[in-house]
Amino acid sequence: LTTAAFMLDYRHPLRPAQGTVPCLIEDATGRAVYLHELRERTLALAQALSEKYKIGEKDVGEMLVESWSPCVYQVTQLPVLICSPNHVDYPAAIWAPQYLGAIFTGANPNCTPDELVYQITLTGTTLIIAHSDSLETARKAGELAGISPDRVLILDSDPKLDATSVATLISGSISAGSTFVQKKLRPGEGKTKVAALYMSSGTTGPQKAVAISHSAIISNLVQLSVLNVDSHIMFSPGDVVLGLLPFFHIAGMVFTLHWMVFNATTLVVIPKFSLVGMLDSIARHRMQHLMLVPPVAIALCKSPVVKKYDLSKLKYIGCGAAPMTSELQDQLSQLCPQATIGQCYGTTETPAILTMTPISRPFTSGSAGTLLPGVQARVVKSDGTLAGYNEPGEFVIKSPSLALGYYKNREASDDAFIADRWFRTGDEVKITENGELFITGRLKELIKVRGFQVSPVELEGLILNHPDVSDACVIGVPDDFSGEVPRAYVVLTEAAAKKANNNPEPIKASIAKLVADNKVKYKHLAGGVVFVPLIPKNPSGKIMRRVLKEQVKEKAKAR
Ligand code: AMP
Repeated sequence: LTTAAFMLDYRHPLRPAQGTVPCLIEDATGRAVYLHELRERTLALAQALSEKYKIGEKDVGEMLVESWSPCVYQVTQLPVLICSPNHVDYPAAIWAPQYLGAIFTGANPNCTPDELVYQITLTGTTLIIAHSDSLETARKAGELAGISPDRVLILDSDPKLDATSVATLISGSISAGSTFVQKKLRPGEGKTKVAALYMSSGTTGPQKAVAISHSAIISNLVQLSVLNVDSHIMFSPGDVVLGLLPFFHIAGMVFTLHWMVFNATTLVVIPKFSLVGMLDSIARHRMQHLMLVPPVAIALCKSPVVKKYDLSKLKYIGCGAAPMTSELQDQLSQLCPQATIGQCYGTTETPAILTMTPISRPFTSGSAGTLLPGVQARVVKSDGTLAGYNEPGEFVIKSPSLALGYYKNREASDDAFIADRWFRTGDEVKITENGELFITGRLKELIKVRGFQVSPVELEGLILNHPDVSDACVIGVPDDFSGEVPRAYVVLTEAAAKKANNNPEPIKASIAKLVADNKVKYKHLAGGVVFVPLIPKNPSGKIMRRVLKEQVKEKAKAR
């Protein structure tokens, strides 16, 4: 099955009778979308994408990407890029290309044209579906990447805009009927056929496109569902769930959107976070489940406005995509004593969840939970030997949900996807005797800001273009709200250093502005710019970020 067929054609045994429980509710309007409508809209969009935009399968040959096994993955060209916040037609935009044998890639709607060009070029995108608020950026990026404006559609409807909307395409095709041939996978084909490309910087370097197979997504849904059944149906059909995690991030795409539709719960689709807006929605829709990132959980615990709301219907609050401290977990417990407060952990390369707090048995606050069924794990110490219980080491996993590799990037794939389909997460963990996982650190370069990935190398590359900079290193520094924020350590040119002696602020501001002008907001240098005489490097010239990170830790301790 393709993921689309699994989601829309497969009869879930728990699903209530057709038309009784909506799959999605649009938060702002209350518009409910039932499964049969979701299917009808997806088929209609697939028809239009096939007929008008020639989206479909284009096998460009089989590419051998992994040295670790003779596994090949099928490359289907013409990915559709969705550049939008959450929207009720987002799932149709994901699944319609899949019905045609094509793939989709999700992009942050707030990214800059250059960031979008990078993703378009890397993934080979030839059609963009953007939210109307991102239309200008999408058109600009499209122009730079050679995509004509008539191949930039809008996901929502805005009569003021001269752009074809998905809603118009859908209504046109619904009346005309469908003639396209639905892509059916041969037995076993789902394991090598790419369903989606999602961006991740992995353990090192700039952002890469993670090639995610249909089987990886479906496997994760099944793994999560085994856990759900084990926990006496934590997410029961008809339960109402907060759909705030962005669908362009792996956690929002798999855990929230796919899993909640699969669970036959009702997902309230929320495009943008505001604390009061979210609290109003929780009350209005009588939600039972919240899936959050730690900064939203912090806002919930800290803001006095929360006291005005009745949160007693909540059964479960899950937090993921970034570390949640035991203190925060305890504060959430105090706020909602009747609810289970859980944590999830995973990566884009294991789309999406590897560990989750068990619901049906006691667990330790601050733990990232236990392994999902079907996940195998090793904790590997820096000397390459296996760690014992409670000993830290790199978390190396094997899971049926593992992605195929980094698209068209054999070197990075070989580095992270190692022999016999094991994957190096780049996270430092320890596992207790009772199987609980604690994330103790991050060995990889990645910075996580409010759950979003920031690649230090990407920012360093940009900062090095500044005329006053001769060398640069970016690390994440702790931040109460965002978890981490990027800070740049900069070596100035000789001339700039002289200027900075009198007044360093204008140069610092100009470096920060360079990043602000070119990168999406969460990548901005909120941790500041620090001038240093040199960047610590090892004999082969590799930046030793750890040294700067340790300095930050030491300074914090001394305070
Ligand atoms: P992404 O691919 O954007 O989902 O980022 C994956 C990375 O986010 C992981 O490798 C971790 O470093 C971090 N992460 C995700 N969930 C958690 C969690 N519950 N606790 C700590 N770190 C997490």
